[in-house]
Amino acid sequence: MALIVQKYGGSSVGTIDRIRNVASRIKRTRDEGNQVVAVVSAMGGVTDKLIAMAREFGDNPAEREMDVLLSTGEQQSIALLSMALHELGVPALSVTGRQAGIRTTGSHTRGRIDAINSDYMLGCLNAGNSLVVAGFQGITNDGLIHTLGRGGSDLTAIAVASAIGADVCQILTDVDGVYTCDPRVVPNARKLPEISYDEMLELASSGAKVMQSRSVEFAKKYGVVFEVRSSLNDNPGTMVLEEHPDMENVVIRGVSIERSQARVTIIGIPDEPGMSARILSALGDAEINIDMIISNIASDGYARHSFTMHANDLGRAQAALKPVLAEISDQAKVETEAGIAKLSCVGIGMRTHSGVAATMFKALGEAGINIGMISTSEIKIAVTVDETRIEDAARAVHEAFHLDEAPV
Ligand code: ADP
Ligand code: ASP
Ligand code: MG
Repeated sequence: MALIVQKYGGSSVGTIDRIRNVASRIKRTRDEGNQVVAVVSAMGGVTDKLIAMAREFGDNPAEREMDVLLSTGEQQSIALLSMALHELGVPALSVTGRQAGIRTTGSHTRGRIDAINSDYMLGCLNAGNSLVVAGFQGITNDGLIHTLGRGGSDLTAIAVASAIGADVCQILTDVDGVYTCDPRVVPNARKLPEISYDEMLELASSGAKVMQSRSVEFAKKYGVVFEVRSSLNDNPGTMVLEEHPDMENVVIRGVSIERSQARVTIIGIPDEPGMSARILSALGDAEINIDMIISNIASDGYARHSFTMHANDLGRAQAALKPVLAEISDQAKVETEAGIAKLSCVGIGMRTHSGVAATMFKALGEAGINIGMISTSEIKIAVTVDETRIEDAARAVHEAFHLDEAPV
């Protein structure tokens, strides 16, 4: 008998029929002699609808209330899935984040899981129940509700699997696994049999929404091996685990895209120590995630910094920078550009191969796509391009590295 955690995302529980499909999968897993803990998201589109309703009351609704509101989406789906299981004669209990003992720290709407007291879950399992746990939510030491950032049910599943010592952790979704690129963008993308945590993390944090990046970070830290597979068929999925010598020997494992990016450039910064720290601290204090950073000295002797961020953060970034720039120099000014997107190539093989950037840039050049900013890390090369060309860019680069073909 194995203890299995199965996470079902929003599209997998998006309709009553889909909920029935999930219930029968859970029943089948149970009938095969396993204990099942299902972690579920809100029904597809529900979280977005709740956010839209909140925005009726202004652009910046109180985050404490957002958490109270958004956590209701998952509460609906755990109750409905438990009812669907009862219909099949399966003893099942819905479990909220609080009941699951999921303790969080950090800020409202982007809480971090700090600890899980799994006594209640283990007691219910030992009494013969299957559990249906609400993803995306936890509770602070002070009893406040936190949500875990968009896509946060992935994190719940991995953290619960770690806390209860599950034998298997499956992330069941609307694709068969992790592909070399989003199959909705590159139709001939190939499903990967396995991928290392580091590659999955880089892809997820550069826009591959198939896994929430923080969940992958957590899995790596606690050594939770998991499988991404479909909730609609029984095809084998993709194993996500620590890299090992028998992994497919490729230079590039995959390509990801991230839309709705914006570039902020600050010009007229005095070329003196401490300036970058002041600018970046202002953005950090405003909890704005910046990504690519480029800094150089212009011909007027002043420094200029450019960085990318999500376009939604542009207004907050301008507000956060205004007072600092006024203090720094009367020459300092902010320029912004939206409508850009980011394309990233990821692979642990890059550590030992050269020429990857050249192949990527050549493919983009031949497709007539202009490159904006460039950044590299040990296993990633990322560029910005005009958002209207991002899909062409992904297809061109996917083709240039022959990612549709299995390596020999
Ligand atoms: P869920 O609701 O199950 O959490 P998501 O919508 O969050 O599912 O994630 C699944 C989606 O991720 C897929 O439908 C696919 O379009 C997208 N995706 C992006 N990049 C990839 C990739 N490399 N491999 C597979 N799917 C990807
Ligand atoms: N319902 C949340 C969201 O839409 C969490 C999740 O689906 O994982 O972001
Ligand atoms: Mg998701």
